[in-house]
This record gives sequence, C-alpha cells and structure tokens, in this order.
Amino acid sequence: MTPTLPDSDGFDYRDGQLHAEQVSLGTLAERFGTPLYVYSRRAIERAYDRYADALSGRSSLVCYAMKANSNLAVLDLLARRGAGFDIVSGGELERVLAAGGDPSRTVFSGVGKSVAEIEQALRADILCFNIESAPELERIDAVARRLGTRARISVRVNPDVDARTHPYISTGLKNNKFGVAYADTLALYRDAARRPGIEIVGIDCHIGSQITEAGPYIDAAERVLDLVDGLERDGIGLRHIDFGGGLGIRYGEETPPATGELVAALMARVDARGHGAKTVMFEPGRSLVGNAGVLLTRVEYLKPGEARSFAIVDGAMNDLMRPTMYDAWMGAVPVCPRDGAASVYDIVGPVCESGDWLARDRTLVLRPGDLLAITSAGAYGMAMSSNYNTRGRAAEVMVDGDHAYLVRARERPAQLFAGESRLP
Ligand SMILES: *Cc1c(COP(=O)(O)O)cnc(C)c1O
Repeated sequence: MTPTLPDSDGFDYRDGQLHAEQVSLGTLAERFGTPLYVYSRRAIERAYDRYADALSGRSSLVCYAMKANSNLAVLDLLARRGAGFDIVSGGELERVLAAGGDPSRTVFSGVGKSVAEIEQALRADILCFNIESAPELERIDAVARRLGTRARISVRVNPDVDARTHPYISTGLKNNKFGVAYADTLALYRDAARRPGIEIVGIDCHIGSQITEAGPYIDAAERVLDLVDGLERDGIGLRHIDFGGGLGIRYGEETPPATGELVAALMARVDARGHGAKTVMFEPGRSLVGNAGVLLTRVEYLKPGEARSFAIVDGAMNDLMRPTMYDAWMGAVPVCPRDGAASVYDIVGPVCESGDWLARDRTLVLRPGDLLAITSAGAYGMAMSSNYNTRGRAAEVMVDGDHAYLVRARERPAQLFAGESRLP
C-alpha cells in the first residue's frame, strides 16, 4: 500500500517511487547523497499564493518568518513572488539582502535586539521594528537619534490568549518572554509618540506556532483591534496591523484551518470594526515551507531487539531537532515501498544520545540501504540543525519541475573546525 503524505503540492508517489515534482527521490539521493533536504519550489509558491490570494484587493504584506528556513533559494523565490520578511537577527537581515529581498518590506522581531543590530537595520532602512519591551523602545530611540534618523516601529502586543499549542512554541501568554503586556501597551505607545527618534506605524502580535484552531487567532485579533481603537481615541493613528504567524500544518492527523479560511475570518473582523483601509500583515513561517520539504535519509542498519527494533539511519537529531526537542511526530515513509513482513521500528540516527530519534513505533517493511523520507521537514528542520558530533550539515536541493538545484553544499568536516586553532 502506498503511504499517504500530508498536504503537499510538491511530493507524491509515481510508479512506486516518491517524487519531488517530476524528480524521483532515489535519483536525488544518488546525485547528492544523504541525509539530504529536498524542497519543492511549487509547494512553497502555492503556500504563499494562498495568503496572497486571500488578501487580494486590499493593502497587505506577507512577511515570511525566515527563521523557519533561511536558505537563500527559499528567500529568493519568495522575494520574487512579492513577499517581505520577518527577521529576528542581524544575520537574517544579511541573508535578506544577499537573496535580493527588499529591506523596505522587512520587519524586525525578537526580544533581544542589540545596538549593532538596530544600527544595521536602520542603515538598511527596514519597514519597521516590532518592539517587545520598554527598554528596547528607549534603545531604538537613542540609536535612531544618534544616526540622525527616525525608526519606524510597531509594538508587539502580548494579547494573553492561549494558542493551545506546545509550551515551547506558545508565545502569547502572560508568563511568556515575548511581547509587551496587554495592560502596558497604550502607555508604551504614548511614550513612543513623544520620542523624536521614533515614528509609530503599526501594531503587531504573534501568539505561538503550530496553531491548529482559528479560535485563538480570532480572540487575539479582537484584542488587538480593541487596542487600535484605544490608540485612535488617543490620537495615535496606525498604518498597519500585523497578525503575526503561527498557522499550523498537517504533520499527521492535525486539522488546521485552511489559510484562505483563516485570513477571511480575520479580515471579516477587521472590516466589521472599520479598519479595512489599513495595511494588514502576516508573518507566516511554517505554513509557507513546512510541507514543502522532506529530509531524505538512508537506512544503514536494522537492529532487531527484544523490546523494540531500531532502524539506524544516516540522518540524526543534529539534522532534524524537532522530534527530540518538541517530542514532535513527523511522518516517515519509504521512498520505494516494498511488499513483505512489516516490523515496528524506532528510526534513530548515529549520534551518541538516547534522544537521537526521528520517529518512533513505525510499522514498516525495511531493508538496509532503503531510503526513507521524513515528511513535513521544510520548516525548523535545516534551520535548527547543528554540527553536534562533528557532523557536517546536510546538503539542500530545490526541485523545480524536472530540475534539481543544489542550493546548499554538504558541509565537510574540515570546514567545521576551520575557525579553530591549536595552542601555540
Ligand atoms: C517564529 C515567528 C513567526 C513564524 O511562526 P510560524 O509558526 O513558523 O508561522 C512569526 N512571527 C514571529 C515574531 C516569530 O517569532
């Protein structure tokens, strides 16, 4: 039986083999080796278009939260499509510029912006800083004045709603380090309005990641719109409202709202409350790239055991952290499904940690040398990878129709310690 893959416009089985668009994954493994990240250009573009289509006819900007996958090829194709970017570091700003992205469509999020990063972003003339605290506002004001300019800002509000997602990726609750406490927001805007180095342009919220219900979004939006009304009563007008990212994807059995439905529900609230003329913004990460990528890995050994059997593969936790970090379930499917007696396997890597697993309790028919695809690996996969155990990072390939482009070369061990030195 052919396995089913979660929503993806880029991957399906043809003639008994899993393909990325028109290219078989077996071919890619031969050509580029494993472990290998494989992305589908079409899947990314369609995911972006679902936001763009739902927002057509109004002033809007979709800023890709690039921490989900910051490969230059991914940024490049989204920039060509008209996307802006949501960055969380000066390094990400350099990537935007290197990929041909537009700084005037770039917003800067994150709780710990350094003086150097603020300077760098002001010189690049980004669209706005999403302010996460009072001391950050003070710092940005001071840096802007020193440079003889004004910083455009929006305040990231913590709306105190429960996104009902994993605690590590929930960001909109009171006890969370992100955003400005709801009750403090109006006072912070009044403070901002008095500062010569600051120009208020918007408001922002982001309540978490892998959110699979519309309810928390609508609740957060209503609370943000209440603040917009309060600000207008105070004479503080805004140009944009940014509803953040966080829309979940299907890894297995999840049933997140469709992008178009969620955006339509939010826009209905925006219009009903009389703010339809403002620019609306979103900061999606996972929902643009998550189901547009797989991690391709090869079975090295099968190790039957009394309690459980292991399929030891060449990909590991350093390549894909989500399973061990969030206890996340990700699909694991054979590239060429075979007939025969199935066994139950834990799929584990070579790293010296018991936490080094990619999938558990999977009923599969496997032989050493078989290829497995870990599905829905396009977001927070490569971006969270490390060199633990002096493992070079995987290569990345972008498939476009019947072409495959190597968009990041596999790392060699010598590169990993090139910046290190022995003692004199
Ligand atoms: C991570 C992040 C996002 C994107 O979250 P996804 O769940 O990947 O959509 C958006 N905005 C901010 C501020 C973030 O930190």
